[in-house]
Amino acid sequence: MGGASSVLSQSPPSVSNLPIILPSNPYNPTPFRLDRTTRFLRSDTRTAMSVSSLPLSSVRCGGSDGLGEEARGSARVVAPELVERLVSDALVWSSLHGLVVGDRSNQRSGKVPGTGLVHAPFALLPMSFPKVYWRQACELAPIFSELVDRVSLDGTFLQESLSRTKKVDAFTHRLLEIHSKMLEINKKEDIRLGLHRSDYMLDAETKSLFQVELNTISSSFPGLSCLVSELHRNLLNHYGKHVGLDSRKVPGNTAVSRYAEALAKAWSEYNNSSAVVMFVVQNEERNMYDQYWLSEVMKEMHGVTTIRKTLAEIDAEGRVSSDGTLTVNGHTVAVVYFRAGYSPSDYPSESEWRARFLMEQSAAIKCPSISYHLVGTKKIQQELAKPNVLERFIDNKDDIAKLRKCFAGLWSLDNEDVVKSAIEKPELYVLKPQREGGGNNIYGDDVRETLFRLKSEGSEELSAYILMQRIFPTASLAYLVREGVCHRGDAISELGIYGAYLRNKDKVIMNDQCGYLMRTKVSSSNEGGVAAGFAVLDSIYLN
Ligand code: ADP
Ligand code: MG
Repeated sequence: MGGASSVLSQSPPSVSNLPIILPSNPYNPTPFRLDRTTRFLRSDTRTAMSVSSLPLSSVRCGGSDGLGEEARGSARVVAPELVERLVSDALVWSSLHGLVVGDRSNQRSGKVPGTGLVHAPFALLPMSFPKVYWRQACELAPIFSELVDRVSLDGTFLQESLSRTKKVDAFTHRLLEIHSKMLEINKKEDIRLGLHRSDYMLDAETKSLFQVELNTISSSFPGLSCLVSELHRNLLNHYGKHVGLDSRKVPGNTAVSRYAEALAKAWSEYNNSSAVVMFVVQNEERNMYDQYWLSEVMKEMHGVTTIRKTLAEIDAEGRVSSDGTLTVNGHTVAVVYFRAGYSPSDYPSESEWRARFLMEQSAAIKCPSISYHLVGTKKIQQELAKPNVLERFIDNKDDIAKLRKCFAGLWSLDNEDVVKSAIEKPELYVLKPQREGGGNNIYGDDVRETLFRLKSEGSEELSAYILMQRIFPTASLAYLVREGVCHRGDAISELGIYGAYLRNKDKVIMNDQCGYLMRTKVSSSNEGGVAAGFAVLDSIYLN
């Protein structure tokens, strides 16, 4: 999700002056795996492990994917000067190439472009990822996009699946209200644009690629993720021999150009050359450069003009004419692209809800429409994982099998056996409310406590949550750079695959996999958001 970028408040010591051990192939994970319980007992620290806290003996490397392969590569001590040079080169490259976010310590940085820039948090080197799972994830992108489209057309399924959640979750209630009004007026979206990102983690024990969630609104980092891949290729072109890595194994990342292409194609389907694409943005946005990358590519490559408006501004300046045309401050809007509106905090007053409703009623192409937005909720993810539900939406049996294969265990809290199991072994589950944007999930002992509380209250509150099987990726050594400081520690990664889907009535104009986002976080952290301050941007090293 997009969102204000928060950076680490504590700065561990810099890498300079410390002897650094770098494995010849850092993509091989460390040979040990943290015991699950130990990991959960650790606090969800936002501070990465500092270099000085690590043993300064050589680092042994284990299998490349953490899934039981033979150990490859031996440890090699690298002079601290080399790490220093890599970090320094990476920081310069980021500044010169726009791999930047707003600096939280600068008050104007979330509002005024060009003020208070800091490099985006990044991993110094790309993370190892097995080709086979990469292919699997890429192959799933168009299938998920098709699924979203099909489910979005079944208003009754959406309303019924979310009916109990609606009673206890005010935000879901408001979204469903808009959706139900659209059903009442029989609103049809002939042109439908989805810019989704499906996130996955590799579960070490089951050797499975499991979907964490499917984002259908405000899928963030199409701009910056491409730059991180470029940064890594650049570093490996220069230092590859020293670190035993080949830049050609970092796949090219097309996210920004393909997303811009999809938005431009949607704009073109709208067929009004004077219309604009409107980015709906938060009032303060430290991740604005990720968004500006998209606008810039749309302008340069496709000649499409973009404007940026907050929900409050749209309420004040927006009109819908009798033929459905949406104008905002005099601009006809062809496409509404949401980089805000996914969280209750985006709607501090009725004004923002009025704006959302106004746009939904209009003939502008919404990315996402209210239906697409609802399909991306965690409750719908859980409903789709129930037996025989995918069959309602997809005919192709192979596609169904592929989708099901990546579903981790997902349950509603009606399931008493699972609730009992989660109370007994909370470390094996994640408890999720209907929220987006990071920092909302419940882990470890808090799962037990929350379930006890909800059960004892005997309330309907239970339906505000879903339970999910906890995925355990193998931890690997990583160098995470934030605010110009490099931290070394055991880290785990989450791979997001972007997908773009555009159709006009019966014609599917685009349904493609569109690049990737790798995020890496210290393994002791439960959450994974970059903007929320938990993870860094990364790229992948295929093996
Ligand atoms: P959000 O909408 O807040 O991004 P997610 O479902 O993506 O919600 O969860 C946020 C983060 O929590 C993920 O990026 C991931 O790091 C972690 N997480 C979520 N689900 C699981 C899971 N089943 N197992 C392990 N970690 C998870
Ligand atoms: Mg997420």
